[in-house]
Amino acid sequence: MGEVVSKDLKTAPDVTIIGAGIIGICSALSLLEKGVSVRIIDRNPPGSGASHGNAGIISPWSLIPQSLPGTWKNIPRWVLDPDGPVSFKFAHLFRTLPWAVQFIKNMTENDTRRISDAMEILTSGSVELYRHHLAGTGHEDLVADSYYVHAFRQSERANINGLDYRIRREKGADITKVDAGELSDLEPDLSKEFKAALIIKGQARAISPGKIGEVLSQKAMRMGAEFLQEDVKDIRKVDDEMWEIFTNNGAYKSPKVLVASGVWSTNLLKSFGYKLPLIAERGYHVQFPKASAQLNHSVMDVDRKIVGSSMSEGLRVAGTSEFASIDAPPNRRRFESLKKLAKRMVPSIEFEDTIEWMGHRPSFPDNIPVLGELPDHKGLYGAFGHSHYGLMMAPKSGHIIANMMVGEHSNLDLSVFAADRFK
Ligand SMILES: Cc1cc2nc3c(=O)[nH]c(=O)nc-3n(C[C@H](O)[C@H](O)[C@H](O)COP(=O)(O)OP(=O)(O)OC[C@H]3O[C@@H](n4cnc5c(N)ncnc54)[C@H](O)[C@@H]3O)c2cc1C
Repeated sequence: MGEVVSKDLKTAPDVTIIGAGIIGICSALSLLEKGVSVRIIDRNPPGSGASHGNAGIISPWSLIPQSLPGTWKNIPRWVLDPDGPVSFKFAHLFRTLPWAVQFIKNMTENDTRRISDAMEILTSGSVELYRHHLAGTGHEDLVADSYYVHAFRQSERANINGLDYRIRREKGADITKVDAGELSDLEPDLSKEFKAALIIKGQARAISPGKIGEVLSQKAMRMGAEFLQEDVKDIRKVDDEMWEIFTNNGAYKSPKVLVASGVWSTNLLKSFGYKLPLIAERGYHVQFPKASAQLNHSVMDVDRKIVGSSMSEGLRVAGTSEFASIDAPPNRRRFESLKKLAKRMVPSIEFEDTIEWMGHRPSFPDNIPVLGELPDHKGLYGAFGHSHYGLMMAPKSGHIIANMMVGEHSNLDLSVFAADRFK
């Protein structure tokens, strides 16, 4: 790296957050509420990464990991099906293997319950916290009450006693099974192929995930946060009290740094020697801006593992777990497949002016993020790895990391989020 000028030494904020995705933004809001001064650095506009393109589910009851017992049996069928929910880039297969082994090891009932307990810490209260953050912005309607409708083509597969629904119900979820007629009343534009659904109540959905990021980052700035649109190249320790953050535009000092850079977080931490199994689980969405068809709730086609939701920008259908390198271009076949599946899900959908998007879920094999101070590096914190659930977990993650960064004690066992669990 060439010579860089260290800026703003006198005005170094208490905390510099690297990443203005929904995790960085919510962390900033919780820190600002505690009177902590914050600088956020992102090479892109706030909220434009994975936090922009997701399916918009904000669900206290999405506390079930992807690694359910027995899921491994479905993986070969999913991978071989060109429209299946999982795809691998062959060249990337060997790099994904160690992650996949750890993921599969978690497919026991004990691990599912352990992970679910950890997820519950981050999903509980998420709807209320979003409403708290949105209050006073004039955009309170960006989070709407919603059910999460899990729709099945074969009624007998809608099993309310399956482990995933059983755990939800044990934790207090209100879930009912409906038949094809009741489903049609609830979601008239949904395909009549669906013969039953499990309805998870007490949820919310984002009317525009990207707009939530935009509105909340503007709120953070009104509360005093500084935003720099720069590319962070390196983080170095100055001494026990200070860190230095090097960007394409200079260097900035700060006593505490929070790495909330989504799937790119481990790139920034490479020089510290951490071995964190974070991968890019790439997902896609197709948005139908001219769709007259409406979905009244978040709806999952459980057979195809895609989720549809009507948003302010149109009807969005999202899904796919693609294991490929971060930098690989989007796979056109996935867009075509998603359009085909969307049409089967909502037959009256119109394809005019369709918008296509691909983004990166930052995924650990246990589906739980890293939250907290990183081992052996005082003042360096991480909040990343929220996998399939970052939108819903963001406000609570922000709340928890802010408490940690100001040294507030928690009665919860937060060791489940420690980075050294992967040793
Ligand atoms: C198809 C799909 C559907 C999904 N559906 C849902 C859902 O319905 N509900 C849900 O809860 N979750 C969902 N998710 C997951 C959720 O979107 C993510 O978990 C979440 O957005 C992660 O947020 P983040 O802030 O960690 O990462 P990001 O939003 O990716 O933000 C990271 C930011 O860091 C910045 N950055 C990285 N490196 C640097 C650097 N060196 N310098 C400067 N800036 C940097 C990036 O530019 C980016 O803005 C979905 C994901 C996908 C892909």
